[in-house]
Amino acid sequence: MKNILLLGATGSIGDSVLSVIKQNSDSLNLYGIAAGKNTEKAAAIIKNFSPKNIFIEDIAAYDLISSSFPNQNILNSDQELLDLISDNKVDIVVSAIVGFAGLKASLMAVNAGKIVLIANKESIVAAGDILMPLAKAKGAQIIPIDSEHNAIFQCLPADKSTTDVSKIIITASGGPFLDIPLSKLNNISPKDALKHPNWEMGSKISIDSATLVNKCLELIEARYLFDLNEKLFDLVIHPQSIIHSIVTYIDGSSISQMSNPNMEVPIANALSDIRKVPIAFKELDFSNLKLSFQEFPSDRSKLENLAREICNTGGSSGLVFNAANEIAVESFLNNQLKFSQIYDVIYRTFDLIPLSNPQDIETLNELNNEARIEAKKVIKSIT
Ligand code: NAD
Ligand code: MG
Repeated sequence: MKNILLLGATGSIGDSVLSVIKQNSDSLNLYGIAAGKNTEKAAAIIKNFSPKNIFIEDIAAYDLISSSFPNQNILNSDQELLDLISDNKVDIVVSAIVGFAGLKASLMAVNAGKIVLIANKESIVAAGDILMPLAKAKGAQIIPIDSEHNAIFQCLPADKSTTDVSKIIITASGGPFLDIPLSKLNNISPKDALKHPNWEMGSKISIDSATLVNKCLELIEARYLFDLNEKLFDLVIHPQSIIHSIVTYIDGSSISQMSNPNMEVPIANALSDIRKVPIAFKELDFSNLKLSFQEFPSDRSKLENLAREICNTGGSSGLVFNAANEIAVESFLNNQLKFSQIYDVIYRTFDLIPLSNPQDIETLNELNNEARIEAKKVIKSIT
């Protein structure tokens, strides 16, 4: 039996992880969860899965859950989170909190030398320079569950060596506004931007997919996860989201991973060891499969170039890019910012904050707060 600690249990990735656990209750056990403010969903998970440990950071949500489940181990402080993550009984930590808020727990899990299944790409973008060497030093195993990165992971040889790789293609659905030029996206509403054609996801990543910022975050994520130069990665639009990424080798072979768009597939893969973890899935109908590919839109090349610059610069650059985007997305969802202005907030904030080299969580937090304040100032100045 593998004990799983699921951070971000009440979210969209949380749902998929719980479904995989439920389908494999003979081998996978939900040992603990961490959740945000969605107490209704947290309560339902506690009732259905009886996890032994529950971490709730938000104090109002913590009070509510504590009074509803007086016999359960409900935790709230940073020390309690650290103790839970470091608990010897925890075999696997799933990092699926959304945004920079997930970094603290990702760092704790890596520092504890755990097997860490990482969905929280913002952790890697904001602190890849710290997380990846720490994983090496502590013997932590980072396994991606972002579908593209899990696909790359599956297409690499068993020892995950990249020596013979000549190119990696990261596919992108293109989001709900594929083929609509950026100049026509000025007055898009949050409701329209949240409608992803292929995936059902949390609101933040749905907007990131619509702006294509998600693909740029994923480029930075891939550069850190696989420790490769950004020049080896191409971003290619593949509207059907069937091929999740492609690895081309120096002998001319290209290997891809395919499935219908369903996050349970990469999650089950990441939870597999010698034996695969079985799930119920919709088979691909290969006799009727039409796959198409097109270039990453040229009107988003400024964004892509910035992501490539961040891959090469490292330090605080990813953190600032991420913080500006988080604030811009939040403002867009609150109808305070136009869709096209999300890009302006990112570029302007990025130019305002000088590059530095944060080395610890305190400095990362300070810098994140500073970048968020600057992004808010930019929003005020352009709206
Ligand atoms: P979501 O908004 O559906 O869920 C986010 C979860 O994080 C919720 O459980 C929420 O309660 C929790 N949370 C937020 N702030 C928290 C805090 N301070 N402390 C504890 N918990 C907190 O988001 P999602 O779509 O599940 O995405 C989660 C992560 O996975 C993101 O980083 C996203 O980029 C990544 N991801 C998601 C998908 C997908 O299909 N949804 C695919 C690839 C990667
Ligand atoms: Mg992805």
